[in-house]
Amino acid sequence: PVNVDVDYRQLLNEAMAAARPVLGTGRVADYIPALASADPEAFGMALATVGGEVHGVGDWDRPFSVQSISKLFTLALALAHGGDALWKRVGREPSGNPFNSLIQLETEHGIPRNPFINAGALVVTDALHTVTGDALGAVLDFVRAESGNPLVAVDPEVAFSESQHGHRNAALAHFIAHFGNLHNPVDTVLEHYYAHCAMVASCRDLALVGGLLARHGVRADGTRLLSRSDAKRVNAVLLTCGTYDAAGEFAYRVGLPGKSGVGGGILAIVPGRGALCAWSPALDPSGNSVGATTALDSFTTLSDWSVF
Ligand code: GLU
Repeated sequence: PVNVDVDYRQLLNEAMAAARPVLGTGRVADYIPALASADPEAFGMALATVGGEVHGVGDWDRPFSVQSISKLFTLALALAHGGDALWKRVGREPSGNPFNSLIQLETEHGIPRNPFINAGALVVTDALHTVTGDALGAVLDFVRAESGNPLVAVDPEVAFSESQHGHRNAALAHFIAHFGNLHNPVDTVLEHYYAHCAMVASCRDLALVGGLLARHGVRADGTRLLSRSDAKRVNAVLLTCGTYDAAGEFAYRVGLPGKSGVGGGILAIVPGRGALCAWSPALDPSGNSVGATTALDSFTTLSDWSVF
């Protein structure tokens, strides 16, 4: 039930005020030059309700590097088009290891622990590419349609930079391929993975895309992409695995399923109510945005928007 009396703008302003003292705390991702130049103190936050309201504060319309938030969209699309067979190729347990860890792949025979660590996201990208013939195209079409913003695109500099510095991702992909768990050429999978991570979109765009999961699997145009049950499952995996190896801390503070990216964005879902996207580039040691987490913490504390 949506509480029509809530003043969302005021809640967002209070969330932004709560985040202000911590903006710039932490480190901007610097593994590629194109991300290292982000302003650590930038901040934006948007809210899209299932009732169609969209609100935002700060730089909520400023595009930023989506990075790992795209892993949520590839997962939704791979499940929608390829079905449950995906779960034979990727697990759904938290990893407890950093997002780019190679360690579990060996003992678990090339079956990544979950779809949101890099290894799992590579398998999901591969599965999506197999069913659609164009994983990147499928993600871009989806994000543009849900956000209503045809300008959402890939930043070619970021995508190129990822491939130049992507030894660890290439190692993961080859290792998975060794176990027979990639069905397309390794280079194709990596290219599509880097490209979807290098999408640029704003808090507004991403909050609107998150509406899919807030509406239990129904797209912005009213058609159903995921069954209600699959939407529930994706939200559950987001809650347990969506924020690197700090998902416990994120659940404790924010109390929502969410996916973060090293570009500083976090997209959080409030099933049945709406989606929130907060962004600030400075990250904590786990890779989650300090400002975005603080703002979401404040928002869910001040409102009754939590799954708990
Ligand atoms: N493209 C990034 C990588 O694979 C994604 C990092 C992230 O946002 O977690 O390293």
